[in-house]
Parts: sequence; structure tokens; C-alpha cells
Amino acid sequence: MKVKLLVLFLASVTISVSAQSNRWQQRVKYQMNVDFDAVKHQYKGTQKLTYTNNSPDTLGKVFYHLYLNAFQPGSQMDVRSRTISDPDSRVKDRISKLSPSEIGYERITSLKHNGKPVIYKEVGTILEVTLNEKILPGTQHTFDLEFDAQVPVQIRRTGRDNSEGIDYSMAQWYPKLCEYDYEGWHANPYIAREFYGVWGDFDVKLTLDASYTVAATGYLQNPDKIGHGYSKKEVKHKAGDKLTWHFIAPEVHDFMWAADRGYQHDILKVDDNLDMHFFYQTDTLASVWKEMEPLAVRCFKIMNEKFGRYPYKQYSVVQGGDGGMEYPMATLITGRLNLPALISVTVHESIHSWFQGLLGTNESKYSWMDEGFTTYAQNLVMAELFPSKSDPQRSTTQSYINLVKSGLEEPLTTHADHYNTNRAYSVASYSKGAVFLNQLGNIIGKDKLESGMKRYFNEWKYKHPNPTDLKRIMEKESGLELDWYWEDFVGTTKTIDYGIKEVVASGSNTDIVLERKGQMPMPLDVVVSYKDGTQENFYIPLEMMRGEKSENLYTKTTLLSDWGWTYPEYSFSIGRNLADIQRIVIDPSQRMADVNAENNSYPSIIKGSPRLKAEKVR
Ligand SMILES: [Zn+2]
Repeated sequence: MKVKLLVLFLASVTISVSAQSNRWQQRVKYQMNVDFDAVKHQYKGTQKLTYTNNSPDTLGKVFYHLYLNAFQPGSQMDVRSRTISDPDSRVKDRISKLSPSEIGYERITSLKHNGKPVIYKEVGTILEVTLNEKILPGTQHTFDLEFDAQVPVQIRRTGRDNSEGIDYSMAQWYPKLCEYDYEGWHANPYIAREFYGVWGDFDVKLTLDASYTVAATGYLQNPDKIGHGYSKKEVKHKAGDKLTWHFIAPEVHDFMWAADRGYQHDILKVDDNLDMHFFYQTDTLASVWKEMEPLAVRCFKIMNEKFGRYPYKQYSVVQGGDGGMEYPMATLITGRLNLPALISVTVHESIHSWFQGLLGTNESKYSWMDEGFTTYAQNLVMAELFPSKSDPQRSTTQSYINLVKSGLEEPLTTHADHYNTNRAYSVASYSKGAVFLNQLGNIIGKDKLESGMKRYFNEWKYKHPNPTDLKRIMEKESGLELDWYWEDFVGTTKTIDYGIKEVVASGSNTDIVLERKGQMPMPLDVVVSYKDGTQENFYIPLEMMRGEKSENLYTKTTLLSDWGWTYPEYSFSIGRNLADIQRIVIDPSQRMADVNAENNSYPSIIKGSPRLKAEKVR
């Protein structure tokens, strides 16, 4: 009877969830022509946007991002940076000091909706457009837009003449339609942090002085006219010539480009279907970049195998000179780094091709799903590239625990721009997001996490997955109920702390009493090591999981009865003398983010001594 009910339950779940992954999403097609003046650092653009309303709603307004307007004294980004308690050292008060020729701007000079002029209003970094003709469900509309823009001196990500001397890092450079999804419009002002875009196709023609080498999202359509390392043919250009670069990028949600007169352009093959392009200044960097390049190729191979195939035929690693930032089919990274730092940032940004580039979560709302998952995969890839190093996930977990102890932690449900401090944002997004996945592997088992992540990629690539979408994938994959984990670890700042309260002899048996001291409940592994050299794991499922993980990490595992979360204590008995026991350890694999590890072992560890080594788990 139980079995039959379970089958029925799973069948109904499968139907509702496959409908969920077919959730509607809007679609864009951009055709842009840009004439770039590299003397004035200004450009004029035309943009034809074809917008398909796949929503069931009638739209009376549309919104565009005008990101470059953030780089003006008094902008929201400027004021936020000057008033937050721990400003980004790269920004601080620098925006407030920009002169008129150094600021960034995007000014709309004309906008037509289906060929007719329409009323629009620039409000900081957002263009608000009130439509005369409403956009009905299932219809396609065109917007013809003309704009003038100026490239700011580089402050963050976008800009010219940065500290590494790169001429142009052109991210967030065009009027970009805001996303409208099942939660409505997302016309967030640009404060500094995360992005969200509409899926679609880009066709970009960029005209600028022929002395510049351009790297970009998308495939170059006219390599034999351009040269610059894109063509096998030698292509010569005369001084003063202008070139028109034509790029096409299908199935992406953004378009970035960069240009420099000193770029070296290398191409390496990952396999027959994927080329990696590298752009960097030649002076002193060549030897470090040449060492990094094959490691970046290996990163893509590892990621393809572990998380699902990267589907584009090209990826570009571009020296932008200001931190690292991910874009579809490309990244801008700082170039003047030593090899470990250079490979680390390249690996991180490349992995965003999966967690952002293809799994296009609304990063503003769920920064932990792109930054955290990227950090988790980065830890896996780095451990494979440099196997002698200790597991980097340990230090990621420690950084989360340090934030908890600082008292600054805010829940992962916080909008990326709204965290009170940069530290709370970055540790929550990068570290706690990575802990979330690593710990999920402890809850549902390592194999289920791996197969679940592949399933997540296959079902949600080219879409906008949210936390619940991921939860349902993991529930289906593991057969466990996981609401509680999302509710507490994502929705709150409750922490985990379990301890061994008592170990007492009871005749020829030993009784062990555990206590839950933290507010957040978890299933537990408790490994007992005996003096004869054998080991036994005792696995205590959390009752509200409604099942058990299957995982074979230990030579022997004994399944104990469930622990209902409200009970502060849990006892079990083992059929061995107390004198036979050498050690008892809660969470021997150290995948649980227990904020106080000192009470996790028996005999208890003296404060300050190193944690016990994980047993049989990397
Ligand atoms: Zn990142």
C-alpha cells in the first residue's frame, strides 16, 4: 500500500514539474550598428529590437537598462559606494570625481515602437517607456532606438584606460531591455552587483579604427576581412582605416566586447567543437598566459564531464584589467597576475558559462545560485588541476562560519544590491552558496548531487531557474523531501551546531547522547572508530526528509531511526564496550557547516587543536 501511494505521488510530481520547466520566457533579437570614435571615447549606435511577448500578460510599458549612466557623480552607484560601511576599494568615491569627459552615459536620441515615435524617460540607469500600443500576449513588436554614448574612465567592469592599460572593456554598453518574467518587471537600478537579461540573439556590427583587436561575445562573421588572429590569412590594414566587425551570438542574454591595440590573440582547441580564444597584452604577460591556457582548456573538459556540455563553439578569455566578470561566451579578467591567481580567476569566470551563461538565474535575487555554485565547481576543478593542495571547499566553509561569527550575516534571500555590507553580500553569495551545494551532497548523497546537477543543467539551460526549480530537481533525483533545507539555509540565518553530549557504558553496550544546539536541523553521520582499527558509521536521517540518502563512504553504515527536529537530544546504543571505543566523530566528511566543531568529537578535542581528518572522503 505504501509503495503504491509513493508511485502515485511521484507520478503526479513528475507531471507538474515538467510543466514547470517549460515556464514561459520573453525573447529578444538585437540588431545593432555601432560607430565608435576612439579619439573621443564616444559612439553612436542604432538598435533594432524584436521583442516577443510569450507571457500571458498585456504590457503597457517596457524598460531598458542604461548601465553607463551609473558612472556619473551623484548616481545611485556613486552614493551607495560612498555611504556603505565597507566600500569596494576599486570604487570608493572615484565616481564622484569624474569630469564631464570621464563620465559614462547612454543618451537615447530616438525611439520608435512598431515604426511610430513613443514617449520615454531616462531615470538614472533605467529608461522608462510608456507604450501607445499595448503588447498583447503572443505578439511580436519592434523597437528602433538610436543612442549616443560615452565610455567612462574605468571604475568597475566597463570603461576605458584601466590600470592595466587596456583601451576598452565594453560590458553593459548598450541599451538593454529589462527582463519581464512570471514575477513581473525587473527594472533594477545599476548599483554595482548582479545582472539579469532576456534570452535571445544578437547581431552586432562594430566600426572602429583598424589598429584595435576586438574580442567579443559571439562568432565573427568576416574573419578574412578582419585578420587580427581570427583568420589564417595574413590581413594588412592601413593606418587610419576603419574596420566593421560583424558578430553573431545566438541564444545568449548579453553581449560584451573589448578592444585593445596591444592584444595578443591565441586560439586553443578544447575539442573539435570548441575553440578557446585568449586576448592579452604581449609585453610581460605572454609566458604566464601561455602556461594558463592549457589549464583553462582542461577546466572546460572537466566541467563538460561533471556538469553538462558547454554548447557554444567558442569561449574567450579576455584581459579586461579589472577583477573578473562573466559574460556569455567570454569573460573579462585582470591579466597581470601570477599563475595561481590567473588560473583561479579564469576557472571561476569560465564556470559562470554554466552558472549564469546557460543557467540564467536572476542573479540579483539569487546571487548564491550563480556565484555560490560557481565557487563550488571552482573548488572541484581546482582540486583536480592541483591535486596536492588541500580541499579548497574547507576554506570556503570556514569563510561562511567566520561571517556567522561576525554577526553580519543576512539571509540568502536578500537582493544582491540590498545587503547591508559588501562582506555580507560576498560571503553569502560566494561562500554560503558553495556550502549550500557541498552540504546538499551530504544530505542527499554525493552521487545524487552529481546526477542532480547534470539534470538541473539539462532541464534548465537557456532558461531562468529559481531556487524552487533546483529543489524539485534534487527532490526527484534523491526521492527525499528537501523543503526544510531551502527554508532554513536559504531563507534564514539559522545555524547548525550538533554536539556529543554523553558517552556512557551500559553493561557491555555504550550509550551515546547527541544534542542539537543550533536552530537548524540536519541529518547526521556519526563515525565510531574502535581500538581494533575498525570503523562504523551511524546514520541518523532527519524525520522530515521522509527517507534516507544512499551513500557508501564507509566500510559499514548502520541506519538508525529518524530524528524529529524538535527533539533537542537523541540517544542510541552500540553493542560494544566503552573501552573498545577510540573515537566518535559527528560529520566525519566535514560537509556540514557546523559552526562549532569543538563539540563534534569524543574524546573532545582541546580548543585550538587541528580538526580530525575526514575519513575516506576527500
Ligand atoms: Zn563569479
